[in-house]
Amino acid sequence: MTSFGTADLKKMFDAIAAAIEADKDRLCQLDGVIGDADHGIAMALGFNAARDAVAALDAATVEPATLLNTAAKSFLNAVGASSGPLYATAFMRGAAAVKGKATLAASDVIAMFQAMAQGIKDRGKAEPGEKTMVDAWQPAAEAATAAHGAGKDLAESLGIAFAAAERGAEATKDMIATKGRSSRLGERSLGYIDPGAASAVLVIGAIRSSLAG
Ligand code: ADP
Ligand code: MG
Ligand code: MG
Repeated sequence: MTSFGTADLKKMFDAIAAAIEADKDRLCQLDGVIGDADHGIAMALGFNAARDAVAALDAATVEPATLLNTAAKSFLNAVGASSGPLYATAFMRGAAAVKGKATLAASDVIAMFQAMAQGIKDRGKAEPGEKTMVDAWQPAAEAATAAHGAGKDLAESLGIAFAAAERGAEATKDMIATKGRSSRLGERSLGYIDPGAASAVLVIGAIRSSLAG
């Protein structure tokens, strides 16, 4: 595929919601170790709400930016946990990056992806190394942008981004949390994967498989 429309983004939200639902228990377990055990529930509530809200839109008349803003609103309304505003901001920034476009070229998808990662970083004010979802999103976005800039196609660029997200999430094991709920544990957060980084791998994997599978 070389261009993506609202119908494709609906499929993307279907894929993300399915991936989160399938691993909901594992995400709650990860959050149970260094947080409050609700991350899988929060992400499932958010992405199920986003999937349902965008499914109700008319793909023939609604543009991608409007779909992403709809997803942002429904995600925020559905989630009480800190992942709520983080992903809502991601989708709002993704919307701003593709505003006014009826269809998205590969470069627009990369720009949307990069804007989502930046939105999470801006909203949470976390830098890489603080043991958060930023440790998966930022290297993924950087890898996608670099790969696309070097002439790789969308499938390859998102594949490289996914691998970077996996490595980034794995690396959170060796980090001490300094942002979010798990920062209260200090050094006791060492040795465990951050749940938000683990769910980011699922989200990024579903974006990849739905848009570039
Ligand atoms: P809560 O901690 O409110 O229960 P969740 O369990 O849904 O929220 O999400 C926890 C995840 O949110 C963490 O694993 C981490 O990845 C992410 N997170 C928390 N605070 C921040 C932040 N300031 N910036 C980026 N990500 C954060
Ligand atoms: Mg939690
Ligand atoms: Mg909570």
